Amino acid sequence: MRHFPAFLDLSGRTALVLGAGEALQAKAELLRQAGALLLPAERFHPALLEGVALAVAAGAPEEELSALHAACVARGIPVNVVDRPELCSFITPAIIRRDDVTVAVSTGGAAPVLARLLRQRIEAVLPPLLGRVAALGAKFQSRVRARIPALPARRAFLERALSGTPAKLAEAGRQMEAEAAFAAMLDDAEATPRGFVQLVGAGPGAADLLTLRALRALGEADVVVHDRLVPEGVLELARRDARRIYVGKRRAEHCVPQEGINTLLVELAREGLRVVRLKGGDPFIFGRGGEEAQALHEAGIPHEVIPGVTAALGCAAQAGIPLTHRDCARMLTLVTGHTRDGVLELDFGALARPGQTLAVYMGLSTLDALHQGLIWEGYDETTPAILIERGGSEHQRELRGTLAEIVEAAPGWAGDGPVLLLLGEAVGMGAPPLPAAAAAAAASLPLP
Ligand code: SAH
Repeated sequence: MRHFPAFLDLSGRTALVLGAGEALQAKAELLRQAGALLLPAERFHPALLEGVALAVAAGAPEEELSALHAACVARGIPVNVVDRPELCSFITPAIIRRDDVTVAVSTGGAAPVLARLLRQRIEAVLPPLLGRVAALGAKFQSRVRARIPALPARRAFLERALSGTPAKLAEAGRQMEAEAAFAAMLDDAEATPRGFVQLVGAGPGAADLLTLRALRALGEADVVVHDRLVPEGVLELARRDARRIYVGKRRAEHCVPQEGINTLLVELAREGLRVVRLKGGDPFIFGRGGEEAQALHEAGIPHEVIPGVTAALGCAAQAGIPLTHRDCARMLTLVTGHTRDGVLELDFGALARPGQTLAVYMGLSTLDALHQGLIWEGYDETTPAILIERGGSEHQRELRGTLAEIVEAAPGWAGDGPVLLLLGEAVGMGAPPLPAAAAAAAASLPLP
């Protein structure tokens, strides 16, 4: 980030406005609206800077502009010369205004046109009377503070009030009713609301595979409890000041034991916090989400599950493999290669049955045992197979072959990331997708 975003309080302060022209007039008008006292000047003289809080300039002779810039920099006075980045110590954003609500957009000077395009888009989605909602918040600020002293609870209340009925009424211009609704909501507000937990699926590795519901939960969470498989891009979508707690989990290297995680979730919720428990893929597929949900249920903590794209789906989609196929796969089996006490306890007879696709999670270290077990039940070693590492992410790697071939090659191929095995005739049916327009479009999808 090249610039520090900030809003200046210029009320009653002097702003030097040097030069002439429309662009300068526009800046002067904004300064005036912000309460600044304007000091217009046609020629620059260092004495002008006495007591000046900020300077803007345009349409003055070149030597005046550079003299102004140098003098301001020397005195630590913020200066902006319109359309001359090299003569600016601050830049002005494109802005969207609704009374006291101001949205500022900057591209760091890289593409002002893009900033203006973004402004148009934001203009279109912000209600015209949004400022009234802010005014509502301002009006009740001290009463809310007095009634709900704890910050997380207060924030939760304000989020409900400023997105619920009172806000809708204010946006519709029905100020009196909005205030009545706000006051009623505040009267009802439990001083110590109970927290809750959302078990959220983070998807397989790309932030834009998240569901909109998960995105909303992340934006509202006070705490995010996450583990290793959660992509960094997803974590970045959490509310900026949300606390993050890493609880690890890697085969044989559990940072926090499962019971510890269960207890942690219960305790955080009892503090009145909104907790997002973020898990790779889907929380209810080999993620021990079931155990966490049960612990929450037993502790009487309100909770819900927000599904995610599980690894098998993310991997298959990106590798272009149909998991079912009319001709050869009428069944999809999700199976874990994880062992208890080192023994792979699977029903190999069932897994070896033809007409299905096997998606094997956590199967890399027990691949030999799986292979042996399947062959014992008469499975065909030449069945198409694929190992996919970091599937669904931009770092996806694939090893394609027959079952026999990939068992042979896997040890030398495997890297650091999570690996999924897909096995079955359907694996040979797909075609790797061409890098598609859809992928490019997804990358530029505006996340709310
Ligand atoms: N709940 C997760 C699975 C957790 S078990 C889900 O629904 O996807 C962890 C195993 O999932 C890993 O050992 C690996 O086999 C698989 N896995 C998870 N993410 C993966 C990814 N991006 N690519 C390949 N395999 C993945």
